[in-house]
Amino acid sequence: MLTPSPTEWPDRPDWAELLDNLQKSETLAAIVIAAWHIGLYVARTLVEQQLNDRAQQPTSWGQCPVCGHRLHSKGFVPRQILTLVGPVSWRRRVGRCPQGCRGSQSAPFDQVLGIEAYQQSSLELVRVGCLLAIFVPFEWAAWLLSQLTGIRVSDDSLWQWVQRYGQVAMNRWEADVESWQQGQSPVVETLPDELAAMPLLIAADGVKVPLRPQRGTPAGKTVWREVKVAVLARLSQRVNRKGKPVTRLKRRRLVAVLGDLPMFRPRLQLEALRQGVETAAQVVWLSDGARGFWGLFQTCFAHLATGILDFYHAAAYLWQAADAYHDGNPARTPQMWFERLRHQLRHGYVHRILDELRWLSRSPNTAADTKPILKRVHDYFDKHRAHVQYQKFKKQGFPLGSGMVESACKWLIQQRFKGVGMRWSEPGLNRLLHLRVAWINQRFDSLFSQKSLGLPLISPNR
Ligand SMILES: [Zn+2]
Repeated sequence: MLTPSPTEWPDRPDWAELLDNLQKSETLAAIVIAAWHIGLYVARTLVEQQLNDRAQQPTSWGQCPVCGHRLHSKGFVPRQILTLVGPVSWRRRVGRCPQGCRGSQSAPFDQVLGIEAYQQSSLELVRVGCLLAIFVPFEWAAWLLSQLTGIRVSDDSLWQWVQRYGQVAMNRWEADVESWQQGQSPVVETLPDELAAMPLLIAADGVKVPLRPQRGTPAGKTVWREVKVAVLARLSQRVNRKGKPVTRLKRRRLVAVLGDLPMFRPRLQLEALRQGVETAAQVVWLSDGARGFWGLFQTCFAHLATGILDFYHAAAYLWQAADAYHDGNPARTPQMWFERLRHQLRHGYVHRILDELRWLSRSPNTAADTKPILKRVHDYFDKHRAHVQYQKFKKQGFPLGSGMVESACKWLIQQRFKGVGMRWSEPGLNRLLHLRVAWINQRFDSLFSQKSLGLPLISPNR
């Protein structure tokens, strides 16, 4: 039985020094820091005691992977690893093939502990490092880690952790999509009844990110590529104290892909299934005019979702018509006409807009080079007629604009990937992006271990 009482370590000089520091501290802050160091020391000592004790247990030796002989113990060998409470070391048995086969060395206790042969940092530490790195640049993450935990790791180590676990996140998406495409039903996320009753919003957008033009060198002109982002969320509609309706996104999930639509589509479909697209009472699709996204809507969601064309995007289209049309009538400047059209659009009179555009695009009084513009805008609204019924959408409590989606994209992409002077390699961006998405989607911790890490970390707040 363990009792980490200070009296057990009376003759350790480092322990005496820690106690001495505590006694010499004057301010509250200094006392807390001194006590914190004692806490970490106690934690390290406990971990080392546990490991050394457990390593004494009889070891069951497996067979040599090369020749099949039972391995023999070569005695206790020291092992060290950096943890969240600092470096800890212990001794455990290491075995080898009696025939001396290469690669037969084995430490069964390491396997019990879930650590690998050359692993230098423990997973709870790696997880915290990755968590910091998805919010701030690697250098700052390393600095913050040392401020928060007292543990120094290089920004290069952090970068490597992110590469490794970002890759785990990427592989998981690929495996999940593959097993779904092979006919395995995705696991639908469980929702409390209150959330399950809310409409499911699916919205797609694209954000450009700066990439390096060549692998391995920062030289050359920045290449901008699009990350396709989808937000899936439950729409919570409430009335605030002033009686105004407020819409909030709940149970937000993101899909993000640095790549094309064929890559984006299956992931979005899979995530939609996980979010209960087939059982939701209402499904709303929201997107701006990008043709690819509407094609995706038509093929994947049109049969079960209400499609909404972003209002601001639709209004910008109307402006193209208004701006092109000049008949010299001072009572109908482009600005005045646009405002009337936009008002009609917002309040459910799309048919009038269509009539007017059709009539003007055929009128002999319209300039020849304006006609095709008016026709194009007419055809666009005609095609999207069902997606611009804003009066109706408003009554249903649906959002008319993709503002919420854009802010999610900004927050996902801009905040971390578009800092001053930042340029990414494609794999580097992809891995960090996947880690960030995993965190948002509440699938972060499972990337590090199949077994529970015992999280959340204990907070002494009450
Ligand atoms: Zn052997």
